[in-house]
Amino acid sequence: MSDKVIITAALTGAVTPKEKNPNVPLTPEEIAEDAYKCWKAGAAIVHIHMRDSEGQGTMDADRFEKTAALIREKCDVVVNMTTSGDHRASDEERMKHIDRLAPEMASFDAGSFNWMPAGVFMNTPQFLDKLGRLMTEKNVKPEIEVFDSGMMDIAQYYVAQGVIKAPLHFQFVLGVLGGMGGTVKNLVYLLDKLPEGSTWSAFGVGKDHLPIMMAAIGMGGHIRVGLEDNIYYSKGRLASNEELVARAARLVKEANKEVATPAEARQILGLKGMK
Ligand code: ZN
Repeated sequence: MSDKVIITAALTGAVTPKEKNPNVPLTPEEIAEDAYKCWKAGAAIVHIHMRDSEGQGTMDADRFEKTAALIREKCDVVVNMTTSGDHRASDEERMKHIDRLAPEMASFDAGSFNWMPAGVFMNTPQFLDKLGRLMTEKNVKPEIEVFDSGMMDIAQYYVAQGVIKAPLHFQFVLGVLGGMGGTVKNLVYLLDKLPEGSTWSAFGVGKDHLPIMMAAIGMGGHIRVGLEDNIYYSKGRLASNEELVARAARLVKEANKEVATPAEARQILGLKGMK
């Protein structure tokens, strides 16, 4: 399976309003429709956030449930749910949908930092301990989101504590001011620290999107695209999720690799599968 590349589509995120890009899907119906289009274009996984009726990020478990059900009516794409979609939410609110829905995958942001200039992205040791234990209990695969290299050590700490289980799947997030910059050199540095047996994916935010994607494909990783991370297709030209996935799939094929299906992604990542 080493020539298979998993494309994750990060459809919505917690922040970007329609005013910045009208293609950002906000309602459960819009998100499910975009998930379907991205699946058709080659995405094996969709990473989802919820928005409330005002378009603000929310951890509303009912919305996650409704959206996941709508997606499941349409296709077999892997659903990866965020655990950090609303900075006002309590630890318990951030885990409620994981507890209730036990998705195949969810994000595990392995540390806190200043997400400039918005505020502190808070993932306390106590929260990560509770989240990790819940994910292990529910057989939810943690996607270890790494914004800076020390977060890889934090993830390993929780493995050593028995909170989460190896092999880990890392998602390297590069180019957020406050985390590591979106350079290939930084990606290479992170890969040097990769625990044996791990799987990994990477993406750059904004203008760093394309170089990191091409480097990740070249270095044997998986990739993530989508309007959560980058709202442009090219300079000044707004993107849709579907066309970002389609471009990623073309790049994978041009590199003489293959786009992983959801079934292949489940095998590569050791997911429990659909309910
Ligand atoms: Zn996210």
